[in-house]
Amino acid sequence: MKCALVTGGSRGIGRAICLKLAAQGYYVLINYRSNTEEASKTLAQIVENGGTGELLQFDISDKEALKQALERWIEANPDKYIEVLVNNAGIRDDSLLAWMADEQWDNVLKTNLDSFFYVTRVVLNGMMTRKYGRIINIVSLSGIKGLAGQTNYSAAKAGVIGATKALAQEIARQGITVNALAPGFIKTDMTEGLDEKELKMLIPARRFGQPGEVAAAVAFFASPEAAYITGQVLSINGGLYT
Ligand code: NAP
Repeated sequence: MKCALVTGGSRGIGRAICLKLAAQGYYVLINYRSNTEEASKTLAQIVENGGTGELLQFDISDKEALKQALERWIEANPDKYIEVLVNNAGIRDDSLLAWMADEQWDNVLKTNLDSFFYVTRVVLNGMMTRKYGRIINIVSLSGIKGLAGQTNYSAAKAGVIGATKALAQEIARQGITVNALAPGFIKTDMTEGLDEKELKMLIPARRFGQPGEVAAAVAFFASPEAAYITGQVLSINGGLYT
């Protein structure tokens, strides 16, 4: 059975990605950190629409915990194979660099950048054996342009963009593609505190994006038709070019 693992599938963009991939026939592994209630809602919506999946809780910023959880799942499910990995989970913790605490830098880098390495390394094994896979990393406009107040987040997302391009070249011959999607402002909990009225005047489309608009692009990169596209970064930002 072909599976898709989506980190941070309990809410926001990750939930929309889970629903979209389930509609495409994937058995979806819904990862989340602590919000079991919201993760269960994602699963319930998948099942309501006729899809299948399960919850897989682990903290992507804890390399030992994620390795254990993923390896345990892989061992217990020899009939299932993770064909699509969406590294979506992320956090931001904004502050001007001069006032940024060590923990703000460390947590944002661990969650947004280090997790790419630790999660992908575990999942890649199976993809290499089967000579097929799709890895999709959710980055950000902030990682392309850099945003004041987000040196930690911009650095982490820019790091994932570099890693996307490097890994794409390492494993292209094995039938595995690695791409990144860079959303601008998308309506989720992460953007809740922002002044939408003012910010949308900067966006040519004059609105924030919807999580489903990111999920649609994930579905394309995850499809067999996208086999010749790798190492790319696609912006999804309503024309808010850098
Ligand atoms: P969100 O609504 O805040 O949801 C974050 C998700 O990540 C939740 O499912 C959360 O799980 C999970 N998560 C956070 N830390 C985790 C950890 N340590 N281990 C496991 N799961 C963890 O965020 P979003 O707006 O959907 O963002 C999704 C991705 O898009 C992020 O990488 C973000 O940086 C990127 N992005 C978002 C925007 C935007 O405008 N929204 C723009 C550019 C890029 P719990 O529910 O358990 O907390």
